[in-house]
Amino acid sequence: MPDTPAAIESRSLLGEALLKEGILTEEQLQRALRIQDKLEQPRQFGAVLIELGYATKQDIADALGKHGAGIRLGQILLEQGVITQDALEQALIIQRERGIRFGEALLELGAISERVLLQNLARQAGVPYIEPVFTMIEGSVLTGVSPNYLASNKFIPFSRSEEGTVTVVVNDLHDEGCLQAVRDLYQDGFQLALGPLDAISQAIEDFRHFRQEGPGERRRIEEGEDSVVQLVDHIIGNAIEQRASDIHIEPMSNVVRLRYRIDGVLVYRTDLPKDLLPRLTSRIKILAECNITEHQRHQGGRIFYTHQGREYDLRLSVYVTVHGECVVLRILNKQTGLVDLEELGMNKTMLDRFRLEVLDMPTGVVLITGPTGSGKTTTLYSSLNYCNSIDTKIITAEDPVEYMIDGLIQCSIYEKIGRSFQATLREIVRQDPDIIVLGEIRDRTSAETAIQAALTGHKVYSTFHTEDTIGGLLRLIDMDIETFLISSTVISVLAQRLLRRICEFCQAPYTPDPVELDRLGLRVEEVRDFEFRKGRGCKHCNYTGYHGRAGVYELLVLNEDVKEAILQKRPAHVIRQISTETTGLISMREDGIAKVVRGFTTFEEVLRQTPRTFEMRPLRQVLAATQ
Ligand SMILES: [Zn+2]
Repeated sequence: MPDTPAAIESRSLLGEALLKEGILTEEQLQRALRIQDKLEQPRQFGAVLIELGYATKQDIADALGKHGAGIRLGQILLEQGVITQDALEQALIIQRERGIRFGEALLELGAISERVLLQNLARQAGVPYIEPVFTMIEGSVLTGVSPNYLASNKFIPFSRSEEGTVTVVVNDLHDEGCLQAVRDLYQDGFQLALGPLDAISQAIEDFRHFRQEGPGERRRIEEGEDSVVQLVDHIIGNAIEQRASDIHIEPMSNVVRLRYRIDGVLVYRTDLPKDLLPRLTSRIKILAECNITEHQRHQGGRIFYTHQGREYDLRLSVYVTVHGECVVLRILNKQTGLVDLEELGMNKTMLDRFRLEVLDMPTGVVLITGPTGSGKTTTLYSSLNYCNSIDTKIITAEDPVEYMIDGLIQCSIYEKIGRSFQATLREIVRQDPDIIVLGEIRDRTSAETAIQAALTGHKVYSTFHTEDTIGGLLRLIDMDIETFLISSTVISVLAQRLLRRICEFCQAPYTPDPVELDRLGLRVEEVRDFEFRKGRGCKHCNYTGYHGRAGVYELLVLNEDVKEAILQKRPAHVIRQISTETTGLISMREDGIAKVVRGFTTFEEVLRQTPRTFEMRPLRQVLAATQ
C-alpha cells in the first residue's frame, strides 16, 4: 500500500496507543504491520487489527480518544472503518473548495451520520457526548432559564456537579454565539458536552411544554427536586422500552458511558458527565438495598422495579474499577412469552421434519444445544407447548422455571432447602410421566438419568451447552456414557443461534464485499442474481441497522449410519460428514446464508454467530434444501 506520511504516522500512533492501553503486545503489533504490508487489497491498520482479532472497534475508538489528540479527525474515522479512503479524499477537496470544516464536508457527502461525527469530535476534544432527553435533565439547572433563550442559542444545561459546575450540551464546540450565551448564563461555572441538534431542540421543546402544561406522566418530579432519582428512572425505563437485557453504566477516565445490551449486542446510548457517577451509583444502591457507604468492595443486589404497570426483576452488580464503580443491571422476566413453533424461524422443510421425526416420536432423548443466550429455552418451551395435550403428562426439573405453561407439571430446583437436582431426578420417574424435561444436562448424573428414562420408554427433552449438533453427541461420549446407550436413545440434536434481523425501517440494497463472501465460502458468481439488503441505522434500531432476532438451526436426526459412527467412536469430522451425506444435515452457517439471501439478516451476523463449516454446499443446493 503506498502509504502517505499521514497514514504511516497514524498507524504508529494507533499502535502506540494500543500498546499503552495493554490491548496489543509488541509481537502482535509487529505481526499486524507485516500483514498489512503484504495485503494485496490495501486496508486500514485498524481494520487489520480487528480482522486479526487483536482489538475491537471499541478498543480502537477508546485508544484513539485517549491518546490520539495528535491524529486528525479524518485518520481517526478511517482507522475505525467509519469512512473510506475515497470519502476522506473527496471531503478534503470539498473542504478546500468551499472553505467549510472537514466534518461538515463529510456530512454533506453523506459519508457519515451526525451522531458518529459528534461522538468522534467529542472523543477528540475529551468532552462527553450526550444525547439529552428532557426527562434525564436535572431539574435545578433549568430553574430560571427561559426555553426561548435556549432555543435561540441552541444549547441545553444537563446537570450540576456537587461543586456547582453545570454541564451544558451544545451542538458545536466552535459556535461563538452559543458559547457566549452559555458564558453569560454561567460565567466560568460550566463544562461543555457535545450532542445532536435534534435531541437538543427536542429537549428544549419538551421543557417549554412542561413549563406551560405542568408535569406530564413522563416527568413526575418537579423542577429543583433530587433529579438523579429521575435520571435513574429514565435509564431503567428506557432500557426496558428498548428491549434491553442489560444496562451498563461504565466510568471511563473523563466520562461515564451508558450502554444497553439489545438483541445480544452492546449498543452505545450516550455519555453522562463523570461528576454524576457517585450520585447515580448511590441511587441504584439504595434501590437494591446495598451498602451506599461501601466503595472499595464489589457488591451485588436485586431491585424489584415497576415500569408502566409491569413488574421487573433487576439483578445488580457493582464492580470497583480504577475509574470508579461500574454498574451492570440485568433485566430479568422480560415477559417475552411463549413463541409458536412456526415463529421460531425454522424453514418449512426443517419444521416439518422436526415435528414428524422428533416431536411426534413417543420415546427417546432430544437435545437442544447452543451457548448461553442462543434461544434454546425458547425452542424448548415451544416444543413442549406443541406436545402439551390432555392425554400426555409432561413433568419438568428446571433451574429455575422460566415460563409457566398450563398443563405442565413444573418444578424449580432449590438446592438450599434440599430440593437438589439429584433428589428431583430420583423422584421424577415415579410420577408416571410420558415426557420428562431436564432443564439442562450438566454432568454425568443428569445425562445418565436422561438416558435411563428414555430406555424405560419415556420421551426426554433437555438442553446442553455445546457448539453444534455433533459436539452434543461427543460431549455425551466424553461424559463416559456408553456409546451403545447414546446410539440407542438419542433421536435428535438441535443446535441453534440467534441472528439479528435487518431493521425494516432503514433497510436498503447493498453489494456484499468479495472478502466477506470469500470468508463464508461463497463465490461472487453464485450470489450475482440476488439482491442483498442491510440496515443503514435509524432511531428505531438505535442506529445499529438491526431490530429483533431470529433463530438459525442445525437439526440432526440420527439414522443408522450416524449411530454406527457413534458406536465406533469415529472422530467429529467423520460423524459430521456422514450426517451431512446421509441425513441431509444443514449446518447453522448454511441455514444462516439462506436467511441472508432471503433478506432476513446479513452476512456479518452469520460470520459473527455461526460456527465455521468446512464443507459448504453450493448456494443453489442450500436454498433448495432450506425451503
Ligand atoms: Zn433502523
